[in-house]
Amino acid sequence: MKYSFYSSIWATILMLVMFFISGLFGSEKTTSGRSYNLPSRALAGRTIVVDPGHGGADPGTVGVGKTTEADNVLAIAWELKQLLEQAGARVILTRQGNVNPADGTAYSGLPNSQLAARVAQANRSEADIFVSLHNDWSDDPNAAGSASYYYKSHDWALAEAVQRRLPAQLKANDRGVRHGDFYVLRNTSMPAVLVEIGFLSNAREAELLSQRWYRLEAARGVFYGIVDYFQAMS
Ligand SMILES: [Zn+2]
Repeated sequence: MKYSFYSSIWATILMLVMFFISGLFGSEKTTSGRSYNLPSRALAGRTIVVDPGHGGADPGTVGVGKTTEADNVLAIAWELKQLLEQAGARVILTRQGNVNPADGTAYSGLPNSQLAARVAQANRSEADIFVSLHNDWSDDPNAAGSASYYYKSHDWALAEAVQRRLPAQLKANDRGVRHGDFYVLRNTSMPAVLVEIGFLSNAREAELLSQRWYRLEAARGVFYGIVDYFQAMS
């Protein structure tokens, strides 16, 4: 009698613990409270070039925060790479550290050398898409939020998919899908997007972009957009 009483308590506790654990790990939770049930290996067979802007002697935008654009986007690129690989994609980073991707290549010293080296790497890889990560700057210290740029007509769907997810994930101002004549968009042969994640001229966003959790949220926003893009195509 005593034995069965205690064993039923233990059984109840065990069930509660299992219920709690399944709630924690059953689906991908986001800070916005929504959850996405990603099909496993949603990106299997896809090759994705992730391009953290700037690097080496070029820090990119140096705003009011502690970290540079080159540092921020490199950290976000590594988070994004991990998410994409977990979903089955092959990922190529145009730079893996604080380096100039043109150094040591045939492009070294040429005009647009950094950008030409990135584009050559992408076009050689026959990647499905090219995703360039940047931080923005404005004379207006109140300017804030995310924008996704396209140039070629077949860039648009990718930019639209990323833009639908990124500002929502960051709870940031949605600056929309924009047309931009950027070298890496103009010269890549595959659909490409240039993402301006936030403003380093804005004190709040500069601080957020220096923090690991916010960089991970940025990577998640771009990641969900990429998954949506490929799911809409198939
Ligand atoms: Zn930039």
